[in-house]
Amino acid sequence: MNDRVAFLIRVEGLVQGVGFRPFVYRLAKHHGIYGWILNRNDAVMIKIEGQADRMPAFIEDLRNQAPAASQIDEIILDNDFPESLQDFRILASQDLSDETSEISPDIAVCADCLNDLKHQPHRILYPFINCTNCGPRFTIIRDFPYDRIKTTMSGFTMCEQCESEYADIADRRFHAQPIACNNCGPKYTLHFVNRKEEDFSALLAITARIIDEGRVIAVKGMGGFHLMCDARNEDAVARLRSAKKREGKPFAVMFRDLLSVREYAELSDEEEALLTSWKKPVVLLRNIREMATGVCMGLDTLGAFLPYMPFHHLLFEKLRTSALVLTSGNLAEEPIVIENDKALTVFGSITDAQLTYNREIFNRTDDSVTRIIAGKERIIRRSRGYVPSPVKVLLNVDGILATGAELSNCFCIGKGYQAIMSQHIGDLKNAETLEFYEETIERFKSIFRFTPSLLAADMHPDYLSTRYARHQGTAFITVQHHHAHIAACMAEYGIDQPVIGVCFDGTGYGTDGHTWGGEFMVAGIDSFQRHLHFDYMQLPGGDKVIRETWRTGLSLLYKAFGRDLLDLDIPFVHNLDKKLMANVTDALEKKINTPLSSGCGRLFDGVAAIMGCCTRSLFHAEAPMRLESVIAEGIIDRYDVEIDKTLRFENAVRQITRDIALRVPLPVIAARFHNSIIWAIFEGVSRISHDTGIKKVVLTGGTFQNKYLAEKGMTLLTGNGFEVYLAGRIPCNDGGIALGQILVAARQREKTKLNL
Ligand SMILES: [Zn+2]
Ligand SMILES: [Zn+2]
Repeated sequence: MNDRVAFLIRVEGLVQGVGFRPFVYRLAKHHGIYGWILNRNDAVMIKIEGQADRMPAFIEDLRNQAPAASQIDEIILDNDFPESLQDFRILASQDLSDETSEISPDIAVCADCLNDLKHQPHRILYPFINCTNCGPRFTIIRDFPYDRIKTTMSGFTMCEQCESEYADIADRRFHAQPIACNNCGPKYTLHFVNRKEEDFSALLAITARIIDEGRVIAVKGMGGFHLMCDARNEDAVARLRSAKKREGKPFAVMFRDLLSVREYAELSDEEEALLTSWKKPVVLLRNIREMATGVCMGLDTLGAFLPYMPFHHLLFEKLRTSALVLTSGNLAEEPIVIENDKALTVFGSITDAQLTYNREIFNRTDDSVTRIIAGKERIIRRSRGYVPSPVKVLLNVDGILATGAELSNCFCIGKGYQAIMSQHIGDLKNAETLEFYEETIERFKSIFRFTPSLLAADMHPDYLSTRYARHQGTAFITVQHHHAHIAACMAEYGIDQPVIGVCFDGTGYGTDGHTWGGEFMVAGIDSFQRHLHFDYMQLPGGDKVIRETWRTGLSLLYKAFGRDLLDLDIPFVHNLDKKLMANVTDALEKKINTPLSSGCGRLFDGVAAIMGCCTRSLFHAEAPMRLESVIAEGIIDRYDVEIDKTLRFENAVRQITRDIALRVPLPVIAARFHNSIIWAIFEGVSRISHDTGIKKVVLTGGTFQNKYLAEKGMTLLTGNGFEVYLAGRIPCNDGGIALGQILVAARQREKTKLNL
C-alpha cells in the first residue's frame, strides 16, 4: 500500500452528457486505477488512486481519448490522500440545478460503429447504429432528463442483446439511449410509384439506382428531410431546383469522402479538420472546380460536407456518383419538413421517391454551415452538431430569454452563467416559421426547465420576434441591433471593457429611426455610442431594394452624379428601362418613398448592380457574395473614401463608373472596391482609437462572412497594434444577435438591482 498515490482531478469544459463518465470508468479499469467520478455543476471531479507509475498514462489518455463530442478546457490536478479504495465508481451527481445543460448535440456516426456495421452480427447494415460516442441526441429529446423514455426512441423496446449492452458499463453502448439493432430498432421505408419497399438491402439498391439515373428523392435525415440528387447531373440538379422553387441559392453537396472533395476543391488543414469533425458541418470552400452549373450558380464557393448518418455511408457504397446535392427539404422559405406524412404529401408530386423512417424527429435542425476565416472556424448557420451546446458567459443570465432578430433567427435562453442558443429557426416572415419559433421556445422552456423572468428583443418595433416579446406579459427590454451584434462577439470572447465595434450588415433599426448597418461604435456590454457611420443613402422603393438591387445602384449613381446619371455611358444605365429609370430618379430627387440607410450590405448591393454583377437579387446577400466571388488576387490599390462625420463613397462610385467605362476587368474593380472598405475600416478604427485610446476591436455583422474583407481587415488592424476579435462559435450575422441581447439585458438587470 505504501507505493500508492492519489490525486483529485478537476475537468472543466463541455464534459457532461457526452458519455464522459463511462469513458473515465473504462479508462480507469484499463489502467488498473481505483477511485470515483462525479458530475458537479461547475466541473467533473475525478479521484484516482493507485501505483504512481500508472498515473501519467491515465492522465494522458484522459486528455487524448475523451469522447468526440466532449471539449476539455482544463484538467487541474491536486495531490490527495490514498484511502485504500478497491474499485472505481460513478458517484451520484451533486447539486444538479444546472444539469439540464448536459444535453448533447447530435453526433455523426463514429468509426467504431461504421466498423460494427460490417462485423457485428445483429447490426450488419443496420442504418440506425449508434453508441455512447455517436448518434442522435438533441433531435430526439422530448423532455429532461435525457433517458430513452423521454426521447422519440421510447416506442422501441430493446431486444435482450441491446439491453445487456446498455447495462454493461464495459460496453461502448453503456447507457447509449438510442441503442438499437436490426432486431429491435427503427426502420426505413421507401415510397415510390405507389409501392413501398421495407427490406433495407432492397431499398438501398433502389435508392442508389434512382439517384444514379438522375432522379430526385426526398430522404429523411437526422434533423429533417433532405432533397437529394446527383450533383454532377445537370438535369437532375435543374429538376431539384424547380421542385424546391429555389431560384438562385447555391446547393450544398455531400461527398463520398475527403478524396472526392479534393477532386473539386483544394483544402487547407483547418478545412479538412472541420469537414471530418464529429459535427460534420457544411463547410464553405473556395476556388472550386466545376460540377453541374446549377449547384453553385456561378459562385466560386461550394458548401461541402461528408456523410454523417450510417445511411449516408451505406448509400455511397452503392452509388456510382461521389457527390450528392443534399438540400433542406422545405418549400421556399418554410422550415424544413420533419413529419413523414407531410413529406409524402409535399414531396410526393415533386420527387421520384420518398425515403422515410419510423422514428420521430422531435427537434427540427438544419445542417450547420461554417467557414474558415483567418485560420479559425467561423460559424454561419448554427444548428445540427452545435446546438444546444451552451456558451459560457461572464454575467449571470439566468431567466432571460433573448428573442433574436428577424433574419436567420436564433433565440437564446439563460441558465446561470450559460447562454443556450436555439438552433437556426430561419427568417421570421411567414406563419410556418413563426410557428416553429414559438413551438421551439416552448420546447426549450420544457427541456431546459426554463421560465423567463426577463425578455430581451430587437429595437425594431415590427420584427415578429419583438412583437412576440411584447406580448408575453413579462418585463422586456429592447437592444439596438448593432450593439447586440458587438455584445455577442464580446460575450464569446469574455470581454467586459469598452471596444471599438465595427458592425457592417444590411439592415438594423437605428435609434434615429433610420436603417443602420455601416457602424463604428464604442461599446461596452451596457451601452454604446455611435462614433462614425456610412453616410445615409436613399433606398428608392423601400423594401423593394432587397430584391431589385438596381434601385440601390441608381441611388448611388444619383448621389454621385445627380441627374447626369441618365447620360452615363455604362452597360448598367444602357440596360435599364428608360422610363423606369426616369421614374426612380424623380423619386430620388423628390424624396418620395426613399427611406435612408447606412447599411454596408446596401452599398455592396448598389456597387454590384452598377458593375452588372447582380441587378436583381434572388436570395439573401447574393450581391455581396457575387462581388466577393469575382475578386482578382494581388490587387492592392483602392478607390477614395472620404471620412469626416460620416464615410462617403461618392468619389469611389465615380471612380468605379469610370473604370467600368474604361473596360477595366470586373475582378479588378471588385478587388479595388473591397480594398476601399478595408481601408475605411482601418482609418475609422484608427481615428476612434486616437480619440479614446481603445485598442480592442470587434468586427461583426453579416458582412464579415466575406473572407477577403475579414482576413485583410484583420491583418491590417493586427499589424498596426490592434487586438481584433471576429466571432467564431456563434454567427457574426443576425443568427448571433440573441447572445448579445441576453448579455445586454443581464447587465441592465444587474445595474438596476445595484441602484435599489
Ligand atoms: Zn458510435
Ligand atoms: Zn436490439
